[in-house]
Amino acid sequence: MKLTIGWLYPSKMNIYGDRGNVLALAQRARWRGLDAEIAPIGLGDPVPREVDVFFFGGGQDQEQVSVSRDLQGPKGQAVKDAVEGGAAMLAVCGGYQLLGHEYRPHDGEPLLGIGLFDLVTVAGRERFIGNVVVDTDFGPLVGFENHSGLTHLGPNARPLGRVRVGRGNNGRDGTEGARHRNAVGCYLHGSLLPKNPRLTDWLIASGLGRRGDGVDLPPLNDAMEQAAHAAAMERAVRTR
Ligand code: GLN
Repeated sequence: MKLTIGWLYPSKMNIYGDRGNVLALAQRARWRGLDAEIAPIGLGDPVPREVDVFFFGGGQDQEQVSVSRDLQGPKGQAVKDAVEGGAAMLAVCGGYQLLGHEYRPHDGEPLLGIGLFDLVTVAGRERFIGNVVVDTDFGPLVGFENHSGLTHLGPNARPLGRVRVGRGNNGRDGTEGARHRNAVGCYLHGSLLPKNPRLTDWLIASGLGRRGDGVDLPPLNDAMEQAAHAAAMERAVRTR
């Protein structure tokens, strides 16, 4: 069986180690004997129909301008259709922001998103930088955040979880990230997935499940991943 990972804008939206998420998805699939293919989807590229899991990383405001433009029209609709059809998605920070309705940076015009998540992000005066622990259905997720965007969830948005350490979506309402079907958006850089294997496996199984055949991933020896998770958790709690 093959897992196709659609990597959105790898040269534009890839900061703070976010590429590690793509490597974790591919490697945990390969460790189960799956054939994992990474399909880069850059500016002007079409969205391949066979994508099982999308990854959309973080980026600075100026990179988000061209990416926002590229996502308007058929391309953004193709991503939405794929997620509505069961494809999985992990979007981090700048990528997460552009999956909402719009992102309003400090300078310049608002950047249109694709409206996959019912949310709006507005650049704030303070930059949130630090370790984060979020309590979610996948257990506590650990990472770090570096964003000035304040994300406000609309009535149709479901948060990824509640902030235990850090600021999260906006530093006020205690939420972090958003979920819709098999899509997860969040502010957790790090990269996130190598230290949070349960979420990685959920994304792989959900993406493969879009074809209708339930997927049961055999367990792996996650001793190293759990040690990294514990170390990040200890650091987050100690430095809060
Ligand atoms: N430019 C956005 C912000 O500052 C996203 C930054 C990021 O992806 N880390 O909020």
